[in-house]
Amino acid sequence: MARYSYSRLDTYASCPLKYKFQYLDRVKVDVGPSVEAFLGSRVHDALEWLYRQVQLGFTPSVDEVFARYKEAWDAEWADNVRIVRRGMASDAYRGLGVRCLELYCARHAPFAGEIVLGLEMPFSISLDEGTELHGFIDRLTKRDGDIYEVHDYKTSGTLPEPEEAARDVQAGLYALATRSRFTHAREVRLVWHYLRFDERLVTTRSPEELDALRADTLRRIREIEWAAEFPPRESALCAWCEYSGICPAKGHRRMLATHPENRHLGEPGVVLVDRLAKLKAELKETTARLETEITQVEAALVAYARDRGFAVVAGTEAEAAVTEEETLIFPAAGDPVRAELEGRLRRLGLWESCAGVGLDKVKKLVRDGDLSEEARGEILGLARVEPKVTVRLRRRTEE
Ligand code: SF4
Repeated sequence: MARYSYSRLDTYASCPLKYKFQYLDRVKVDVGPSVEAFLGSRVHDALEWLYRQVQLGFTPSVDEVFARYKEAWDAEWADNVRIVRRGMASDAYRGLGVRCLELYCARHAPFAGEIVLGLEMPFSISLDEGTELHGFIDRLTKRDGDIYEVHDYKTSGTLPEPEEAARDVQAGLYALATRSRFTHAREVRLVWHYLRFDERLVTTRSPEELDALRADTLRRIREIEWAAEFPPRESALCAWCEYSGICPAKGHRRMLATHPENRHLGEPGVVLVDRLAKLKAELKETTARLETEITQVEAALVAYARDRGFAVVAGTEAEAAVTEEETLIFPAAGDPVRAELEGRLRRLGLWESCAGVGLDKVKKLVRDGDLSEEARGEILGLARVEPKVTVRLRRRTEE
C-alpha cells in the first residue's frame, strides 16, 4: 500500500529533487530544523497542551500557556536550528510565539462551546485500492450535535486571500478525511487559524469539490509514481531547504563560496557563463540594431519606388517587391463596435458564413462576396481603411 501525506505531495510540487532526497533516497543531512519550523512546533505543542487540560476539565491561564511554551522552547532549542533571515535573532522568534499565543488566548478563552474529539489526531483514508493518504489534524471538534470543525494552526507570516483558502488543498484533504470518518456530519468546517494576524479563515467543501480533489490527488500521485526524472526546481524556498548542501543546483555556488572572490574570474565555469551572457547580450543588441536599420531601409525603398513608379526594385542578387494597398480594419474583440458588427452580420444573414466573425472571412466577403451594395456599405461603415505597404525580398529573377 503506497502511503502519501499532504506534505509529501507538496514537497514534490515545490521541488521534485527535494522529494527524491527526502522520500525516495531518504538522505540524512546533518542540519537542524528552520527556526520557523521550530517556532511552529512549539506553538502547536503549547496549544495541544492547552486543549488537553480543557479535555480534563481545567482551563489554564494565559500565563500557564506562556510558561509551558517558554519552557519547551528553552528545553528543545539546539544550536543547529537554522535562522535564515538576516538580522533576526532567536529571541525575536521566541517572542513571536508568545504573541501568537497571546492573541489566540485573548480571542478563544475560556476555550468552551465545543467538544474536542482529537488533538494531533492521526487519520488515514483510502484513495483507491493501493493508495492511502495519511496526516494529522491539529484539533478536531464537534459542536451543535453534528457540525465538525477541523482546526489548523499557522504561524506563517503570510495571510492568504479568502479565495486561496477556499482552494487550499491541505484543508480539502482534511475535509475528505473527516467526511470519510464521520459520514453523518451535517457540515465539516475547516478553521485555519493564522495566529500572527489573529485571523480565522473558515471554509467548507462541497461533495463535488471533494470528489474532484480525490481524483486530482490520485492524478498527482500517479504523476509522482511515473516520474523518471526529479529535476531541481529553484525558488525562494531553497533558502530553507535542508538539502541545499548537496543540491547540484547549488553546487557551483557552494564551490565558489570556498574561493576568495578575486579567484572567481579565472574559474572555468565562471568564465564560460560570463562569455555566454556577453554573447547573448550582444545578440540582443545586434538584433535590435538590425531591426531598426531594416525598418529605415524599407521606408527609404518604399519612397524610392513610389517616386519613380517602380513596383519591383532590383539589387545585385535579390530584388524587392513593393506593394501598397488599402486594408480593412474591423473592430477587435472587446471593442464596443465589434458587438455592433456581429449584430449587423446576423441581421444580414451572414453570421454563419463568417464562422462566428472570423475577421479574414468578413474581409473576403466584403471584397469578393455576393453582397448587395447596401449590405456591403453597412459592413464597411463599421471598418476603418488603412494603407498597408509591404516589401518582399526575393531572389532576383533574370529577364
Ligand atoms: S536547494 Fe532548492 S533546488 Fe535544491 S533540492 Fe532544495 S529546494 Fe530543490
